[in-house]
Amino acid sequence: MGAHLVRVAVPVPVRSGFDYRCEAPVAPGCRVLVPHGQRRLVGLVTELPAAGAVPAARLKAVEAVMDRAPLVSAPLLQLLLWAADYYQHPVGEVCKAALPGLLGAASRKASPFPESESPSSDSESPFPDSESPFSPSKPPLPPLSAPQRAAVDEINGAAGGFAGFVLHGVTGSGKTEVYIAAAADALRRGRRALVLVPEIGLTPQIVARFQKSLGGAVGVFHSALRPAERRDTWRKLRGGFFHVALGTRSAVFAPVDKLGVIIVDEEHDSSYKQQEGFRYHARDLAVLRARLENVPVMLGSATPSLETLLNVRQKKYRALHLPARIGAAKLPRIALLDLRKLPLVDGLTPPLADAMEQRLRRGEQSLLFANRRGFAPVLLCTACGWQARCDSCDARLVLHGTRARNDKLACHHCGAGRAPPDLCPQCGAPELRRIGHGTQRLEESLRKRFPAAVVERIDRDSVRKRGALAEKLKRAQSGAANILVGTRMLGKGHDFPRLTLVGVVDVDRGFYSADFRALETQVQQLLQVAGRAGRAEAPGEVMIQTVFPDNPVLQLIARHDFDGFAEQALAERESAGFPPYRHFALLRAESETPGAALAFLAQVKKNAGGEGEGDGVALMDPVPSPMEKRRGRHRAQLLVQSPRRKPLGDFLRRLIRAAESRRAARKVRWSVDVDPMEML
Ligand code: ADP
Ligand code: ZN
Ligand code: ZN
Repeated sequence: MGAHLVRVAVPVPVRSGFDYRCEAPVAPGCRVLVPHGQRRLVGLVTELPAAGAVPAARLKAVEAVMDRAPLVSAPLLQLLLWAADYYQHPVGEVCKAALPGLLGAASRKASPFPESESPSSDSESPFPDSESPFSPSKPPLPPLSAPQRAAVDEINGAAGGFAGFVLHGVTGSGKTEVYIAAAADALRRGRRALVLVPEIGLTPQIVARFQKSLGGAVGVFHSALRPAERRDTWRKLRGGFFHVALGTRSAVFAPVDKLGVIIVDEEHDSSYKQQEGFRYHARDLAVLRARLENVPVMLGSATPSLETLLNVRQKKYRALHLPARIGAAKLPRIALLDLRKLPLVDGLTPPLADAMEQRLRRGEQSLLFANRRGFAPVLLCTACGWQARCDSCDARLVLHGTRARNDKLACHHCGAGRAPPDLCPQCGAPELRRIGHGTQRLEESLRKRFPAAVVERIDRDSVRKRGALAEKLKRAQSGAANILVGTRMLGKGHDFPRLTLVGVVDVDRGFYSADFRALETQVQQLLQVAGRAGRAEAPGEVMIQTVFPDNPVLQLIARHDFDGFAEQALAERESAGFPPYRHFALLRAESETPGAALAFLAQVKKNAGGEGEGDGVALMDPVPSPMEKRRGRHRAQLLVQSPRRKPLGDFLRRLIRAAESRRAARKVRWSVDVDPMEML
């Protein structure tokens, strides 16, 4: 057999693949060892092109074919190629992200991966199908409620083809049980399931529930796995030992064959969007994967994203509703406490403090939700107006520590820290005011006010140690903790049965933001955290402290009227020409010298020309980022928008070519973000 061409995704930061000559037979989805510059790298064959620009004889040769059968199935490979193209990211890096530890630099030896390590062909798969730990004969699942049953039946009815469903159910309506039943049904049909969740560290409960119901069939992927564990899970999925892949963002690339259903829990959660490097959105890729695999996909949430709701309106997805909580549980009553009329003591108004007192007497739990970790968000000199600010970022420093000893001023953007000054550094005034209540300050004053109570603080600072979060969540769930105080970490899908009161300490800050998505996120967070209250028999109550009780958005929240909010927000987005009605892409740049990033983007815009605009593509002027300085670098951004994705992608490619050819690029770091989640 003569030499043929292979196109290889080589794990290097170059956007396209590379062509090589190959003597041995090889299929797309197999790994090959290739020379690349001075190195030898393991890449993934993506295509067998008929002919390239360069004659085969002049190409470098593949040194070795590493797999006898493809590592990556045809639909998964298609997904990777589509994602590289859509998010305009180097294809080799995309493939590397999807194949943990399997692509990369080769050692000096010819074969870096011993044969036994390669999970390539079914015949050498160490876990044949017949050893499946799932027993479909005795499903240990609870009887479903009528709306749950109807939802599962709809999804089942769609098996065997692509269909998009939105499971829109209020908090505590039993969505997780629907996911489990839908996955179990797929398994019974001899198919497999892919389940995405936002952050496993935050919600270990959901893993436990899947494992309890589906036994050892569940393979779990999350960011805390060590590389060897990740590879082991990958292999067991690839080999067919696990029948369910459950994981965060990157699990959308899990090597699951014979898929029967794809499920995305809390589909509105922004953690599905990777915010650096390969900036993909796992929910959007999950929908595409379902299309490529020809299976139904279910996006679940109590507060679906506006993107998803628009897709429902446009009949791209079908909505399935779970209108009420399970059993006797009711949605909590939400009260707005007027900070203009009520006194504040240690961050709490009397009605909220009284309600907490009452919960302690009844042996129930309270949760206090604050936006800020640390002791106080602002350190201010009342004499001259000086505030502690970060030298490297456009941001205030947050005071950390206790009342007796504020030991650090920390920047939440770059991590810089320093000791707080005793006197005002500007005017020498002897007293600096500590303004606002971070979680540390709340924790301290709660301990003082309720000395008999067990107070558990849950925020990023308090859970740095491995395992700390799991322990804290366990104490929260068992009821051993009386008062929980924390940031949005506590808002996620937790199920704390004794929790009957949620207090929101500082809601107003969240309403000021330069970002167009901030309001949507704020409403979702509030309803999610409110949804933690009263999930069992005892009714729940939510108290939101605000200076603006008449704010129409707060009024909608108080009525649990998410649909009303969404309708209004969609109308606003449409008239403003924002997503989901128009699609955005950002070219971001940053430089050490002020102005260089902005000048670079202006050059790129000029070189790319404005021709794309005829296609409905609008190229804005480059502007400084809302947070102009971060980590010591000056930042700017260039927004491209279009009502259609295809011309946007084409124009973006031109923009990237213009950026790549700029000399100034050496001093400027730049990146592309398609469908950015935040514009800060
Ligand atoms: P969601 O995911 O919508 O917030 P969950 O699935 O966590 O809701 O369900 C809320 C509570 O109701 C959980 O404690 C769950 O075990 C329970 N539950 C859900 N469905 C049923 C059912 N059909 N029968 C009995 N209990 C159920
Ligand atoms: Zn001063
Ligand atoms: Zn900083």
